[in-house]
Amino acid sequence: MSHLETKWIKDLEHTWNEEAIRQAGQIIRDGGLVAFPTETVYGLGGDALNPDSSRKIYAAKGRPSDNPLIVHICRLEDLPKVAAEIPENARKLAEKFWPGPLTMIFKKTDLVPKETTGGLDTVAVRFPDHKVALAFIDAAGGFVAAPSANTSGRPSPTLGKYVYEDMNGKIEMLLDGGQVGIGVESTIVDVTGEKPMILRPGYVTYEMMQEILPELLQDPTMFSVSGNAKPKAPGMKYKHYAPKGELTIISGQADHVRKRLQQEVDKKRAQGYKVGVIAAGEDGSAYQADSVKVTGNRDDLAQIAKDLFRMLREFDDEGMDFMYTESFSDKGIGQAVMNRLLKAAGHKIIDADQEETDDSNRQ
Ligand code: AMP
Ligand code: MG
Repeated sequence: MSHLETKWIKDLEHTWNEEAIRQAGQIIRDGGLVAFPTETVYGLGGDALNPDSSRKIYAAKGRPSDNPLIVHICRLEDLPKVAAEIPENARKLAEKFWPGPLTMIFKKTDLVPKETTGGLDTVAVRFPDHKVALAFIDAAGGFVAAPSANTSGRPSPTLGKYVYEDMNGKIEMLLDGGQVGIGVESTIVDVTGEKPMILRPGYVTYEMMQEILPELLQDPTMFSVSGNAKPKAPGMKYKHYAPKGELTIISGQADHVRKRLQQEVDKKRAQGYKVGVIAAGEDGSAYQADSVKVTGNRDDLAQIAKDLFRMLREFDDEGMDFMYTESFSDKGIGQAVMNRLLKAAGHKIIDADQEETDDSNRQ
């Protein structure tokens, strides 16, 4: 891939920059790539209706081309141009959660090239709730294909500087809007089947949607500990969100977790490794390690979601060899947090309620 000069437009969270947004839109119309902020994580955008743009997105991310992209729109009236059928369930979800951190899977129209959908007959669509994103999508012609703006396999970027780290030289422009609000990617719901099904947990939770869709199902592979079953969202089968070092989750009763986690840290440090810890606010002073990241209190799952990918990236920058994290509730947005953590950890969990014998209790 040829090296591009990446133009980094800063401070959009404070200063409205009409000219930069116009230029960004023109880049997309000309077949180029622009990274932009949304309320979930940063997106890596290209023209969703241009097959070459989608190919470029896969190349810039190093993403397998069978992993489809999400098409971002900026007004509900544009949905029928990309979605061939809009079931009643989708209308209900759109009415309640759009614009917002919810992606729906529809049967695609002929307008959407297979390059954008990873070869599938379905298309993922999202209407984000972010001023810069909406103005940019509009300027770009209304249909922007955008996966998260990270190199494939790395934690999704929640700050412009992390997009720059991964994408400098690979995209024409970065619209930097500061830190994103939510921090984990959108919830994905497939509305093409007889019953709607969640394929990826996110900020819009099962409980929130179940109120209006009593028949809502969840893809069972989202929770599988083995990680062997085949998920319905193609992207969910890949190793994801992974820091460079090795991450392990310590689960169990809080006092058992504190004790066991520190033991694991001490073992690794004694071997000369650099070790990082992620702790809930309550346990901020409980650990001694090379780097201790203290996130929200145990019941403040929104804060934990917001901090998660940044903490993993900081561990990379600090050169941590091993990292241990406390386990968090999987209720509400906690489900998205634990889903991302399990993937980042490659499903390595230690149950602190079990007596330590050897390594046989590691999954
Ligand atoms: P990202 O934008 O990086 O968060 O990734 C997009 C996610 O949406 C991936 O997990 C994809 O597999 C999933 N996705 C996109 N399009 C479809 C589709 N048509 N059917 C199922 N999952 C999809
Ligand atoms: Mg992603």
